[in-house]
Amino acid sequence: MKYLPLFADLREQTTVVIGGGEIAARKLRVLLRAQAKPLVFAVAPNKEIEDLENAGLIRLRHSEFDTTELIGCCLVVVADAEEARAGEIAATARQAGIPVNVVDRPELSSVIMPGIIDRDPVLIAISSSGHAPVLVRRLREKLETLLPARLGDLATFAGRYRQAVATAIQEPRRRLRFWEQFFEGPIARTVLAGRNGEAPDAMLRLVNLDTPAPEAGSVALVGAGPGDSDLLTLRALRTLQDADVVLHDALIDERMLDYVRRDARRIDVGKRKGRHSHSQDTINQLLLDEARKGNRVVRLKGGDPFIFGRGGEEMAYLRARGIEVEVVPGITAAAGAAAAAGIPLTHRGLASAVTFITGHGQASSPDLDWAALATGGQTLVLYMGVSTIREVSEKLITHGMAPSMPVAVIENATLPHQRILRSRLDQLAETCALENVRAPALILIGEVVGLAHVDEATEYPSLAAVN
Ligand code: SAH
Repeated sequence: MKYLPLFADLREQTTVVIGGGEIAARKLRVLLRAQAKPLVFAVAPNKEIEDLENAGLIRLRHSEFDTTELIGCCLVVVADAEEARAGEIAATARQAGIPVNVVDRPELSSVIMPGIIDRDPVLIAISSSGHAPVLVRRLREKLETLLPARLGDLATFAGRYRQAVATAIQEPRRRLRFWEQFFEGPIARTVLAGRNGEAPDAMLRLVNLDTPAPEAGSVALVGAGPGDSDLLTLRALRTLQDADVVLHDALIDERMLDYVRRDARRIDVGKRKGRHSHSQDTINQLLLDEARKGNRVVRLKGGDPFIFGRGGEEMAYLRARGIEVEVVPGITAAAGAAAAAGIPLTHRGLASAVTFITGHGQASSPDLDWAALATGGQTLVLYMGVSTIREVSEKLITHGMAPSMPVAVIENATLPHQRILRSRLDQLAETCALENVRAPALILIGEVVGLAHVDEATEYPSLAAVN
C-alpha cells in the first residue's frame, strides 16, 4: 500500500485552503462537514466562498498565501496555485511536518482525499491511490445504493448501549455474538426502518435477558474455489467473516484471508506434496479441539471440500464426535480451469459425461476402471496428476484411447500466473516435463480440449505438426 487510510479529527483545527475557485469551494464543503476551521487564501474568491465568510464559517484573506501562516495549522489544501508555487508550498509544509494535499497532484501531496460515503458516524473512505478517480466514483455510487440510508442511526444507537452491554455481558466472545445477533436481528431492522420509538425498550430487554447457555462450537468445511478470490461464493464469504478460527490450506490466497475477522485466529495446515506440515489426524484433532472450546471453526479448502478435499473424512470424524458440521460448496478446480481455458467439460456431440479422477494413487484406494475411462464421448479431469502423468497416459492408451486425443494442462488456473498448454495424449508426459509443469495443475483429456481458446493456450508440441 502506498497510503494508509486514517480518519482525522479536524474539529476546531485550523486548516489552510489556498484558492478561491470551485475546487477550493468543494474542498471547503468537505472540511466544514468535518467541523474544521478553514483559513482561506484567495485573491479573487468566488461568491460561494465570500458567502461562507459572511456566514462566519471560514476566515478569508484576500491575499497570496504566506508560508508563515502555516504555524499552528494542521492541514494544508492547495486547491488552486501555479505549478511552481504549489511545489514550494508543498515542500514547506512537508518540512514542517504538516500534512499537505495539492489537488490532483498526488506526487506533491503527503495526504490525498478519498471518496467519502457518509453515514455519520459510519464513514467509508475509498481511494485508488490516485490511479483511477472515475473508478472510485463508480464504486462510491454502487456502495451508496447498497448501504441502508439509516446506517448511521444504527451505529449511533448501538454506541449508546456499548457500555451497558459490556457490563452485562463480560465474556468477550459472548459479547461479540450478542452484537452480531443484534445487527442481524429485529431491533436493528426497526432502527434501520426509522421506527426508533420501539427500539430502546426492546434493547433493554435483550441486554438483560438471563445469561444463555454457552454456544456450542461448530465446524464449516468451506470451499474457497480454485484460487482467484472473486470465485468465493457469498456463503463462503459470510461463513469466513463469522469464523473465530480458520484452518486453511497452503494454496489459499492471502486476499481471501483478508475476509477473516482481524481477531480470528488463522492456522495454516497446508499439506504440500512431499512436505506434510500437518497430518490428516492432526487436522481432525485440531478441528475437534477448537470446536469443543465453543469456537466457530472454518476449515477452508481449495476448490470444493468434497472433491479430492478429504472433506468427507473430516465430516465423518467430527459428526461421530457430536460436532455440528456445515459444508459450503466451492468452485472445483475443474470448473475454474475449464472456464479459464474456454474448454466446456461437456459438449453436445463431443462429451456427454465428465469424470474427475486423481493420479495421486493411494494403496488403500480402489484402482480405476481404465477400460471405461478410455472409451470416447467423455471428458476426463485429472487432479493431482502431474507426477503420475506418464503412467496415466500409458494406461489410457493401452486400454484403447487414441494416442492423438487432445489434452490440456492448466497450471495455476484462475490465478495471475495461470498457464494453459495443449498437447496430445501420447506427448502429455513430455510436454509436462519440458514445460516444467508444477502443482497445482489440472489435466483435461478429451475431444472438448479442441474447443479451447487457442490464443490463450501454448500449443506444445503443435497439434498440427504431430498428426
Ligand atoms: N478440492 C479441490 C482439489 C484438491 S486436490 C478442488 O475441488 O478443486 C489438489 C489438486 O487440485 C491439485 O493438485 C490440482 O490438480 C487441482 N487444483 C487445485 N487448484 C488448482 C488451480 N488453481 N489450478 C489448477 N489445478 C488446481
